[in-house]
Amino acid sequence: MKKAWSILPEEWKPILTERGMRAFRADQILQSLYRDYIGVWDEATTLPKDFREDLKREFPITAAEVLDVSESSDGTKKLLVGFEDGNSVETVLIPATGRFTQCISTQVGCAMGCVFCASGSQGVVRSLAADEIVAQYMLARKFGEITNIVVMGMGEPFANYDETMRALKLINAGKGPNLGARHITISTCGVVPGFARLASEGIQFELSVSLHAPNDALRSQLMPVNRRWPMDELLEACAAYTKATKRIITFEYTVIKGVNDSRRCAEELATAVKRVPMAKVNLIPLSPVSHRPDFKTPDESTMLMFLDVLMKSRIQTMLRRSRGKDADAACGQLRLRNLNQNKTRKE
Ligand code: SAH
Repeated sequence: MKKAWSILPEEWKPILTERGMRAFRADQILQSLYRDYIGVWDEATTLPKDFREDLKREFPITAAEVLDVSESSDGTKKLLVGFEDGNSVETVLIPATGRFTQCISTQVGCAMGCVFCASGSQGVVRSLAADEIVAQYMLARKFGEITNIVVMGMGEPFANYDETMRALKLINAGKGPNLGARHITISTCGVVPGFARLASEGIQFELSVSLHAPNDALRSQLMPVNRRWPMDELLEACAAYTKATKRIITFEYTVIKGVNDSRRCAEELATAVKRVPMAKVNLIPLSPVSHRPDFKTPDESTMLMFLDVLMKSRIQTMLRRSRGKDADAACGQLRLRNLNQNKTRKE
């Protein structure tokens, strides 16, 4: 049994043939799924009833539902998406001028344990299957036309590489939702083997790397993944990626007051980033998380000092705002509140 939302458009014909089903219906199926955005097979009224019954049996549409919507004063909406087994993840919809960005999750929780991140503070329950990642997008479409996807929700995409990639390829597919590859950004905390794999895909997804510290001593404290793949290896993998793909890498640097916010840190960051040709930096002020009250948001002047140091090193740098704060939808805040409230899927 394969889930409908995990099958790539070009796979439908052979899969139908394999099962002795009418393969000429593949295009109709794709239109129902990704033009009409049906949520259950019975809505595919262009298909004969008996065929729909076969589809239901052989290729069920993922039973995922929006359990809760919280809206932030800045228009950001956070959806809690529940799956059949009672697990849930969060996905965030972020409106901006000319854009409607969706932040999607790839795992229930996260195993990476970054100390400033709410998802990381709870460990990982399980990885999502491709159809469950696609389901987040399908449900989000009811709130508007999604123009961009960032894989920056719960989970580490490179720790769930195959399912994440299948989902993104599907969303990108011309006969699928057809969202442009350059509008899809994958973010990793630095799981090094993922870089070469992504480069070999030959797809122009954008890649972000969560750096957050400029040297091994500090980075290993903040991000345990650095003990497995230290900065030398990480930056080498980044450089190889940009060389192979001719694509830019964006380094994310979350500034935490008194932790990684000194001028020395900014200078070390500039030196580190310079090792990667075609790199840019996003500076993000920490969004406070309840499990680490000692971690504070930096002052504006600190952000500007970082910006100044990086710009003077001729590194393309952006100051980012964290969106969705009052709905607990900001960076790294996903999941925690719902877990604390012990919210479960309603049946
Ligand atoms: N695992 C992936 C993607 C998920 S996290 C990764 O690490 O890149 C998305 C981004 O939010 C990462 O850059 C992460 O480090 C950042 N983040 C986590 N907690 C944060 C916080 N409290 N404040 C600001 N950014 C945070």
